[in-house]
Amino acid sequence: MDNRLKNGLRPRPKFNVGTDGAGMSRAATPPASRPSVMQAPVLVLNATFEPINVTAVRRALVLMLKGVAQAEEIHSSEVHSSSRAVAVPSVIRLLTYRHIPQQSRALSRKNILLRDRNTCQFCGRALPASELTLDHVMPRSRGGHSSWENLVACCYDCNNRKGDRTPEEAGLQLARRPRPFTLHTSRQLMRLIGHKDEKWRKYLFY
Ligand SMILES: [Zn+2]
Repeated sequence: MDNRLKNGLRPRPKFNVGTDGAGMSRAATPPASRPSVMQAPVLVLNATFEPINVTAVRRALVLMLKGVAQAEEIHSSEVHSSSRAVAVPSVIRLLTYRHIPQQSRALSRKNILLRDRNTCQFCGRALPASELTLDHVMPRSRGGHSSWENLVACCYDCNNRKGDRTPEEAGLQLARRPRPFTLHTSRQLMRLIGHKDEKWRKYLFY
């Protein structure tokens, strides 16, 4: 193996969006590498080149190994399996067109954190996912539902401080009104991340 390449692998800056590849299939295992490279964001295009999602390198490699997607743009890093170097994709495209419903995001912890950009909605601190919890703005004990409009990313400090109270009662203020994750939110996020990767731009800014 080329040690120069191996040693030249630099960790990518961590993006605090939910691109941890959670929920990936265990059927195909991409080559092991430093976690930071495997978690770098990859733009996913539909077969028609329309941007539809952001995923992690790990998940993108699985999609490529399964023959579901192909690389359109390549990242400067490589990852290594025991026998070969594998190019890291920066943009992938699905080989078969997939219909994307307007409201395609499931209500989940991962998607709430993604919508709120891993930022506590009370104190404004951006934190790793492991240091955030979900807060019911109107507490469940007082009839608050688990919904896009009533769940926000929240650090443990603020969560403890708030307890079973409304933000007003606890002297806390929401950074913004929580909304459902729409395709619009999704595209805004893709553009935000895309600013950091030149190879994404031609697909996102048109
Ligand atoms: Zn907080």
